Amino acid sequence: MIKGGGAAVTAGADQTCPDCGAAMPRDPRFVVWCDACGWNLDPGGKDPAGGRLEALERALSTRYGQQLYAELSAGGDTRPPRRSAVSLAAFALACLVHALTVALLVAGLLLIVLGWETGIQPAVGAVLVVLAVALRPRPGRLGEDALLLPREQAPHLYGLLDRVADEHGTRRVDVVVVSEEFNACVFEYGYRRRRCLTIGLALWTVLTPQQRVALLGHEFGHYVNGDPRSGLVIGTALDSLHHWVYFLTPHRPVGPIETAAAALMYVPRTLAVAMTVLLVRLTGRASQRAEYHADDLAARTGSSEAAAALFDRLALDDTVESSLRRQSALAATRRAGVDAKAIEERLWTQIAQDVAAVPARERERLRRVGEARGHAEDCTHPPSHLRARRMREGEQLPARITLDTPAAEAIDAELAPAARRLAHTVVRELAHQ
Ligand SMILES: [Zn+2]
Ligand SMILES: [Zn+2]
Repeated sequence: MIKGGGAAVTAGADQTCPDCGAAMPRDPRFVVWCDACGWNLDPGGKDPAGGRLEALERALSTRYGQQLYAELSAGGDTRPPRRSAVSLAAFALACLVHALTVALLVAGLLLIVLGWETGIQPAVGAVLVVLAVALRPRPGRLGEDALLLPREQAPHLYGLLDRVADEHGTRRVDVVVVSEEFNACVFEYGYRRRRCLTIGLALWTVLTPQQRVALLGHEFGHYVNGDPRSGLVIGTALDSLHHWVYFLTPHRPVGPIETAAAALMYVPRTLAVAMTVLLVRLTGRASQRAEYHADDLAARTGSSEAAAALFDRLALDDTVESSLRRQSALAATRRAGVDAKAIEERLWTQIAQDVAAVPARERERLRRVGEARGHAEDCTHPPSHLRARRMREGEQLPARITLDTPAAEAIDAELAPAARRLAHTVVRELAHQ
């Protein structure tokens, strides 16, 4: 992709920057930009997707992430304070959310039982009961089509995960889910709080073995970093609130009934949004501190150097996505000589090669774009460039857990069947978009 300039240039020839006159090396595969003044640094300039509430959550986590970066650079502690006025207020608000759900249920049952004769009251009551059930706090569950990799099929992978869990002094995971995403996450599910780690292959494949260890160090850090949002009471309350907001948001009002419903829902929706914003604000600072604490655990587990490189890699999400799209588009052309099966077969290897082939100059541009846009892993993480910078500026910790090539290859072999299935799905889905 070449943007800007406009003047006809031949491949390989340098351009001069229209703003400052500095020489700009030209690579036909990438954007031409000026590293002296930043001209044409970010011709795409896209905004992150998502609704207004998500945009607000993102903006808040960026702001708290920046403030905390400054505080931590000055020698602050990443461990969240156990009890503060703010954390108690957050806890109280979360209890209020759960109390509202209970009140809805009780009111519904009372209407049904006490107003049985009236006919209309039980109908209203039934609606309230259904609402309460729909909006109840959920303990979380595994997705129905999640691709599970059980312990007995991946002894080397689970062996590594167990080492990381033991290093953090926390319970081991019960199951691994493999996905196609450029991400990884941990969560607890069910009433027995079983533990799941999701490994997103698009991210996993572009990491070196030691960066993978650092990634696991961060993810397992989520189990021990005291993040109020992953606590049972506050976590489920936030979840319920997101359900409420979604439920109360009118979807395309077309007729008078929908318009009336939207008007009726206006007040409860505003209340639900206000409560969500308040709870996000009350937990925001502690949650960002907890993320930085998980980063410290990533460094302690996989080394500061690997952790910094990992956070740099996060800014390559667009590169990985366009690489995936290119391979899928190629597989979809039924041209002679194109073997769709072979493309699927080596999809993840190809993605890793494409990322490895990104030259230093383009990496630097992406790093600066990430910095300018405030790139973050998602709307709950601090800006990636600050996470990387903290790792570089802080004490350089050696790895407590190392993953050598044979061990990494054994794990790759265990992931191979899932990788094959996901490659098939990804290639098919992207080709049809
Ligand atoms: Zn310039
Ligand atoms: Zn995190």
